[in-house]
Amino acid sequence: MQRFTDVACTACGCVCDDLVVDVDEHGVVPVAGACRLAQPWFEQFQKPFSSTPQIKGRNCSHEQAMEEAARILRSSHAPLIYGLSQSSTGGQRAAVELADQLGAVIDTTASVCHGPSIVAIQQVGESTCTLGEIKQRADLVIFWGANPAVSHPRHLERYSADPASEFLPNGRGDRTVVVIDVEETETARAADLFHRVEPGQDFELIWRLRSLIAGHDNGDATSAERQLAELMKNCRYGVIFFGLGIAQSHLGHGTVSGLLRLVAELNAHTRFTARRMRIPGDVSGADSVLCWQTGYPFAVDFSRKYPRYNPDEFTANELLERHDVDVCLLVGIESVSEFSDDARDWLSSIPVIALDTPAALWDTQYHVQIPTATYGIHEPGTAYRMDETPIPLRKLVDTTLPSDEQVLADLCRRFTL
Ligand code: SF4
Repeated sequence: MQRFTDVACTACGCVCDDLVVDVDEHGVVPVAGACRLAQPWFEQFQKPFSSTPQIKGRNCSHEQAMEEAARILRSSHAPLIYGLSQSSTGGQRAAVELADQLGAVIDTTASVCHGPSIVAIQQVGESTCTLGEIKQRADLVIFWGANPAVSHPRHLERYSADPASEFLPNGRGDRTVVVIDVEETETARAADLFHRVEPGQDFELIWRLRSLIAGHDNGDATSAERQLAELMKNCRYGVIFFGLGIAQSHLGHGTVSGLLRLVAELNAHTRFTARRMRIPGDVSGADSVLCWQTGYPFAVDFSRKYPRYNPDEFTANELLERHDVDVCLLVGIESVSEFSDDARDWLSSIPVIALDTPAALWDTQYHVQIPTATYGIHEPGTAYRMDETPIPLRKLVDTTLPSDEQVLADLCRRFTL
C-alpha cells in the first residue's frame, strides 16, 4: 500500500489539491478530503470494468479500433470533435491538432454550460481574481444562480466562506454569504442572506441594482434590493460567483453581460470581482488550450483550413440538430446528456468514436469505443481550476490504457503519413 498526499481531484471545477489517497491492490482509496462527489469518482477506479476497445459492441484490439476510427474519419465530410473537459492540456492540444488536420469543428462542453458567459466576457470584459484572493480577502461572497453545496461541495470550505486568512482572521465570522436564486437551495440555507428572484427576472434585478449603485433610486426597487445594493457598495472586497442558473437562462449572455457590468461599476465604490462556477473538472483548461491554439475558446471550425469562431453556428448541439455533422469524435462522453433530443437523435444515427474511462464506456454502444487512461489517476497532466489556475495532476497507479493524447496523436499521424 502506498499513501499519496496533496492529490488533486478533477471531479469538479474546484480541483481541490489537498486530498489523501491510498493505493493498494483494490485501486485508489480516498482517505481524507474527498467530498460526496469525489468519493464515488475515485471509487470508480476500484471496479473491474473492461478496458478492451470495441467496434459495434464487439471486442477488438487497440489497433483494430484505431484503424476503424481512422477509416471513419477519413470518409467524413463534416467531422466534429467534442468534449475535452475531462481531458488535460496534452489531450486538448492533440485534439486541436487533429481538428486542424481533418478540417473538423472542435467544440467543448463549455457550449452546453458557460458558453453564454464566455460570449458575455468577450463583449464586456471581466473583473476577475483567483480563488486564493477570494480566500484571503473577500468579506462579501454572493452566489447567484449557483448551488455549490451540491455542485462543488468543498468550495465554501476551501475558498469562499470558511477559511481564516490574514485579512479575515475569523473566517466565516468575518464574511457575509448571500445567495440569489429562484429557490431556497442547500447553499441558501447555509447563507447569511437569501434573496429570492422570480424565475426569468435576474436581468431585471441586475438592472435595478445597477440603478441603485449608480445612485438612481427610481422607486421600483424593494427594500431587500436596497439592502443588497448597500451591502455590495460597503463591503471591503466582494465577489459574485455565478452559475448556470443565469448563464443558461433565456438570453443568458445578456444577463451575464449585465452582471459583469454591475460588478465593473461596483469597483467605483470598492473592490469587486466575478467568477464563473465551472462544473466539469477541466473545462477551463479546454477553454485555455483552444484559446492559445486557435484564438477562440470553443465552437471553432477548421473546414476552411483556418480557425473560425461562431457560437450557435459551430457549437456541437446546434450542428447536430441541423444534421451538419456526419462523424463525431467524443473526447469524454459526460456532457452528451446535455444535448437536446434532436441533437442526441442525430448523434445516434451517425458513426461516433468515443474515448473515455472504462467505467464511462461500460454500458454505452458507440460505433468505436476506446477506453483511455484518466489524468490524475493513471497519467500525469494539468487541469485548470475554475479560476484558470493550472493545477498539476500526478500519476497514482499504473495502467495499460492509452491516454487520450496518445490516441489523438496516433490518429493525427495516420492522416499525415
Ligand atoms: S469539491 Fe470538487 S474538486 Fe473538491 S473534492 Fe469535491 S469533487 Fe473534488
